[in-house]
Amino acid sequence: MERLEAEVVVVGAGLAGLSAARVLAGEGVDVTVVEARDRVGGRTENGVLGGEPVELGGQWVGPGQDEVLGLIEELGLETFPTWTAGENLFDLNGSIRRYRGTIPKVNPVALAEIGIALKRIDRLSRHMDPAAPWTAKKALKWDSTTVADWISGTVLTGTARDLIRLAVHAVWAAEPEEISMLHFLAYARSGGSIESLLDTEGGAQDARIVGGSQAISDRMAEELGERVRTGTPISAVEWDGDAVTLEAAGTSFRARRAIVTIPPVLAGRIEWRPAMPESRAGLTASMLPGRVVKAMASYESPFWRDEGLSGSVTSVGSPVTMVFDNSPPGGTPGVLVSFFEAGAADLAGAMTDSERRELVIGNLTRLFGERAGRPTGYIDRCWAEEAYSAGCYGAFMPPGAWTRWGRALSEPVGPIHWAGAEVATRWTGYMDGAIRSGRKAAGEVVASL
Ligand SMILES: Cc1cc2nc3c(=O)[nH]c(=O)nc-3n(C[C@H](O)[C@H](O)[C@H](O)COP(=O)(O)OP(=O)(O)OC[C@H]3O[C@@H](n4cnc5c(N)ncnc54)[C@H](O)[C@@H]3O)c2cc1C
Repeated sequence: MERLEAEVVVVGAGLAGLSAARVLAGEGVDVTVVEARDRVGGRTENGVLGGEPVELGGQWVGPGQDEVLGLIEELGLETFPTWTAGENLFDLNGSIRRYRGTIPKVNPVALAEIGIALKRIDRLSRHMDPAAPWTAKKALKWDSTTVADWISGTVLTGTARDLIRLAVHAVWAAEPEEISMLHFLAYARSGGSIESLLDTEGGAQDARIVGGSQAISDRMAEELGERVRTGTPISAVEWDGDAVTLEAAGTSFRARRAIVTIPPVLAGRIEWRPAMPESRAGLTASMLPGRVVKAMASYESPFWRDEGLSGSVTSVGSPVTMVFDNSPPGGTPGVLVSFFEAGAADLAGAMTDSERRELVIGNLTRLFGERAGRPTGYIDRCWAEEAYSAGCYGAFMPPGAWTRWGRALSEPVGPIHWAGAEVATRWTGYMDGAIRSGRKAAGEVVASL
């Protein structure tokens, strides 16, 4: 057994772990990052289509996400606007219409109901402190209500309900029946407002990163050099008040502090010696990951643009709920990205690769015509099947979890500190939040050394 020592060990080389390590290294702390996969970036991963990088995981950034935008600039990377020119498509149970803006053109009553519901969500979430949702005045009430309960008690028209459910799928990658309303409100608050989570231009889907989002982690890892050890899954952690020993196959790491940045469900699968306190064990057993299958098809050019279409589609009644133009900045190749979320992702994940591809291309052909049926390339990723992510975009709280276990999300246990997109209190679940959480945990650790 190889025995290594460092002042601090960071578990996970995603955006949270690498951001934490960068702060620690900058403070002169001897830090080692241990990463299970043979690459860095975690839930951000670049694939290739037509020789160009495309994002299989997290990709969009937007105004207010100052940490990720600042880091992109610091690392010498650039962003480019998400393609929005042209009309979007609204596919309502197979009937396809064109529209502009965020909310599809539906009947005026449904439209009014959606507007009122979004305003109500903003009004309710204004009272939330994303760092401590359990302190909200009606915390117990909202934590014993599912998002589905709230929708059915608030929204009357079928189309408005369908579209709000779809928005929940798009942001949380879970069914409204699964999510605590307290979680929904605190999460919306952490991104500013529900509209900023949903909007493309000026919202969370405003821009992408030239060279793909994994470039952020690749650049940080280059800077950190040999401090980052990939291919090293941690399976057990022994801890006491003063120190921590982390075990991987054939290697152990002893440190004064550890920052664990892996998704909560995976943190719950590590063998902790002694066992985690009940609240922390309860938290990791309760927090559930969302499910997404992201599929991209490439074409010689983005032909839909010539037809006045933006490439964006919102579908009700189709397993693919959202489609976007995901072409690289130069527009070659043309790329359409399709999302299966929540229950639809469960179904798509259970298909064979060829069945899933056929479904995606068939759906694009139905929406964009026969040219969409002749892609030059195709790539997809089922995030629930990724052993070292276990789902995405992030984990959510089911009813009862925030009020019962919420404090344990960020509270250090002995020498162990927690970070990751789920721990963030601003832009929870997003790349920006991951970076914030890593920097915050690193600050706590520096102060404690
Ligand atoms: C399909 C998809 C689309 C998304 N879209 C967006 C978007 O458009 N905009 C946005 O801002 N966010 C988006 N997200 C979310 C965003 O990517 C994540 O919030 C963020 O990347 C999480 O970073 P993290 O460092 O907290 O966690 P992770 O990236 O999950 O990093 C954790 C790291 O720990 C490693 N690990 C796990 N177990 C172990 C172990 N036992 N030992 C050692 N290492 C381990 C993992 O391999 C991983 O590298 C999306 C995510 C996905 C998957």
